[in-house]
Amino acid sequence: MKYCRFEHQNTARYGLLEGVQGRDVILAVFLDSPWRDGVRTQEVSPLALEEAALLAPVEPSKIVCVGRNYREHAAELGHDVPKEPLIFLKPPSALLSPGGTIIRPRISSRVDHEGELGVVIGKRCRNLRPDEDVHSYILGYTCVNDVTARDLQNQEKQWARAKGCDTFCPVGPVVTDVLDPWQGTTIETRVNGELRQSGNTGDFIFPLDIIIRYVADAMTLLPGDLIATGTPKGVGPLHAGDVVEVTVGGVGTLRNRVEDYS
Ligand code: MG
Repeated sequence: MKYCRFEHQNTARYGLLEGVQGRDVILAVFLDSPWRDGVRTQEVSPLALEEAALLAPVEPSKIVCVGRNYREHAAELGHDVPKEPLIFLKPPSALLSPGGTIIRPRISSRVDHEGELGVVIGKRCRNLRPDEDVHSYILGYTCVNDVTARDLQNQEKQWARAKGCDTFCPVGPVVTDVLDPWQGTTIETRVNGELRQSGNTGDFIFPLDIIIRYVADAMTLLPGDLIATGTPKGVGPLHAGDVVEVTVGGVGTLRNRVEDYS
């Protein structure tokens, strides 16, 4: 299944995507959230994905992020490889639509991109048994930019400000279940067309099953919740006027402009 979320007749709806002559086309909208059992859809006039007014394709109760999940990224920030997952939260108010503008806030002079694989939870998930397969809890995958005020992150023990500013969580453009991060999925970040980050989920320090189990031992994951799985090496600054793109193999490209606070 592949879906997006978009403005349809002045309402935010989830759109079911089908491949038509090599393009992703919205052929139906969900009458309920895509993670409900027995989801019902209604056919609509076909609309190409690139022509839709896209919204962030998730409505999470929380956004859980994994820090330092690639050895080379931990090294570039001068950190040891963690012995267990390092997690933090971003508020849902940080969400930004595909095509939306990342705002560099007044409180920071160094805002970085962090291209990441996003995991969307499909089923309530808490205290998994050791032998339990996590696949059934995953609805699909998407692109996330874990935008970070690096100066604040370095100054402050808690990362609520560094990671939680408005527009600091671009997500999308679609959610799809066609890829398998356990087999290796590519993640690339470009700024103004120039490749800055290139990684593969095969290089995760902690694979997804360990991450999901670790999070679900602490807090209930709800349908629609988003997990950002960590960024590969090559993080760097964003400036006003930049266009930043995060591409996850099998998902597509999440594209956002950058502007200063005004
Ligand atoms: Mg990150």
